[in-house]
Amino acid sequence: MSKPDVVVVGGGWAGLAAATRLVQAGAGVTLFEQSKELGGRCSSFYDPDFGEWLDNGPHVFIGAYRAALGLMDVWGAIDGIDFDGGREIPFIYPDGREERLKIGGKGGAIAALASLMSFKGMPLRDRLKTARAVRALMRTEKIDPHSEPTVAEFLSRYGIGESECGGFWNSLTVAVMNAPPRLAGLSPMIRGIREGLISGGSGSRLGKPIKPFQQLYIEPAKRYLLDKGVEVRTSEGAKRLLFAGDNRIVGVETSKRRIETDKVILAIPPVHRHSSAGDGMLSTAEGQQQFVLNLLPDRWRNDEFFSRFRSFRFTPIASVHITFDRAVLRDPISLFPGAFTHWAFGRGEDEGNGWSRISTITSNAPGKNEMTTDEIVERTLSDLRERLTGVKSAEVKHIRCVRTLAATVLLEPGSELIRPDAKTPINGLYLAGDWCATGLSATIESAARAGETAAEEAVGS
Ligand SMILES: Cc1cc2nc3c(=O)[nH]c(=O)nc-3n(C[C@H](O)[C@H](O)[C@H](O)COP(=O)(O)OP(=O)(O)OC[C@H]3O[C@@H](n4cnc5c(N)ncnc54)[C@H](O)[C@@H]3O)c2cc1C
Repeated sequence: MSKPDVVVVGGGWAGLAAATRLVQAGAGVTLFEQSKELGGRCSSFYDPDFGEWLDNGPHVFIGAYRAALGLMDVWGAIDGIDFDGGREIPFIYPDGREERLKIGGKGGAIAALASLMSFKGMPLRDRLKTARAVRALMRTEKIDPHSEPTVAEFLSRYGIGESECGGFWNSLTVAVMNAPPRLAGLSPMIRGIREGLISGGSGSRLGKPIKPFQQLYIEPAKRYLLDKGVEVRTSEGAKRLLFAGDNRIVGVETSKRRIETDKVILAIPPVHRHSSAGDGMLSTAEGQQQFVLNLLPDRWRNDEFFSRFRSFRFTPIASVHITFDRAVLRDPISLFPGAFTHWAFGRGEDEGNGWSRISTITSNAPGKNEMTTDEIVERTLSDLRERLTGVKSAEVKHIRCVRTLAATVLLEPGSELIRPDAKTPINGLYLAGDWCATGLSATIESAARAGETAAEEAVGS
C-alpha cells in the first residue's frame, strides 16, 4: 500500500465529507471504517423479517443543509431526497385533530413569522408569545458560552413554559437538538432555527429520503470515492496513532496493518459511547466503537485539549419500523406534539397488495435502564392508535425497534467550550464529526461541514 497523503478514520458523514473534499483538492486518501459498511449513525441494515434494508432511523434533511446536499450532488445521489412533501408539517393531536404549519414559503423570516401566526396548533395568545420569542432569537447575535441559558430558560423570559404552546417548543427543540428544552443549550438551537425554519424559501423545507441509506448515499459515495482512487477499507478499524517524537503524526496502526502518513483526520466519536448491544436491541455499529481518546498515547489523552472531551454526554434515539396491512399515514412526514413518539415517516405503501410501512422517531428516548424495547414498541403503537384513525383497525405485519443509545452528543449550555476545532495541538492530526465546533446541533450537516473543514485544514497545512 503506497503512502497516502491523508488517512481518514471513520466512514460516517464526516469521514465521507472529508475524503470527498480531499480528493477534490487532489490528495491521495485512504479511508478506514471499522464496520462492514460505511454510514456510521446514518446507515442501514438488511432485515430478513422485513425482507429489505431498513435504516437505523429515519433522518430529515433540511433545505439549508448546504454541505450535506452539496455532497449528495457530487456523489450523484441528490435525486434520492424528496423535498416536495416538506412544505407543510402536519401536527397531529391525540383526538386525531390535525393542524398544518406552512414552511418553505417565499419571503424569508417575515413569511415564517406570518406562517407561525396563522398556525392553529396554538391559541392566539401562545402564537403571540412564540412570535416574540422567535423575533428575539433572530436578533440574538452571540451567546457567551459561560452564561448560555437552556432553551427552557430562554423561553421562560417570554412567559412560555415547557409544556405550553400546544407542545410546539418541545417538538421543535427535540427535533433540532435531540434534547428537551430544559437540557438543550440555546446557541445551536438558534443556529438551527435561523438556518432552517425561519430562513424561508427552499432552505426551510424538509426533505425525506426515498430509499434506504445504503442505496441512497452510501453506495453512491463509495463508488465516487473508489472512482477517484481512494482506498476504502471497511472492517478495518484504527487502533493507535503512530508518532515521531512527542507531537508529530507519522502513521496509523489498524487492526490489520501499519500505514505511514503524516496527516490523519479522525472522523470518529470523541469518547466512549455506551453500547446498545443486549436487551434484544439492535445495535448500530456501536458495540465495538473506538474513539478519539483511546487512539492517543496517555500524554495526549490527559492534555487539556483532549481531556475536556470526557465532559460530553450523549442522548438516545429510538425508531420503530412497522408494516401495516393498509395505508395509515397521509403525509410523508407527520409530527405528534406532546407524545412519546415525535415523528412518523411514510416509507411506502401498496394498497392493492395490502401493506404500508411507516417509521417513527422518539428523540431523547429513554435509556436501556428506563424502558425495555417491548415497552417502547407498545408506547409507539399506542401513540399511533391515538392519533391516526387508520391504525386502530390495522393489523401489524412486521415490527422492528432500533435503539441508538448514544445517538448524538447532548449539547448542553457551555458545550461550545468543549467542542473542538478541526486543528489539534498535534502536528498532522485533525478532528471531524457532528460533535465538533460547527455551531450547529449534532446533525448530518454538522458532520458534513466538520469533515470538509478538517480536509481543508489538512491540505492547506
Ligand atoms: C436514529 C437517528 C436519527 C437521526 N436523525 C437525524 C436527522 O433527522 N437529521 C440529521 O441531520 N441528523 C440526524 N441524526 C444524526 C446524524 O445521524 C449524525 O449527526 C451523523 O450521522 C454523524 O456522522 P459522523 O460522521 O459525525 O459520525 P458517525 O456516523 O458516528 O461516524 C463515525 C464512523 O467512524 C467509525 N469508527 C469509529 N471508530 C473507528 C476506528 N477506530 N477506526 C475506523 N472507524 C471507526 C464508526 O463505525 C462510524 O462509522 C440522527 C441520528 C440517529 C442515530
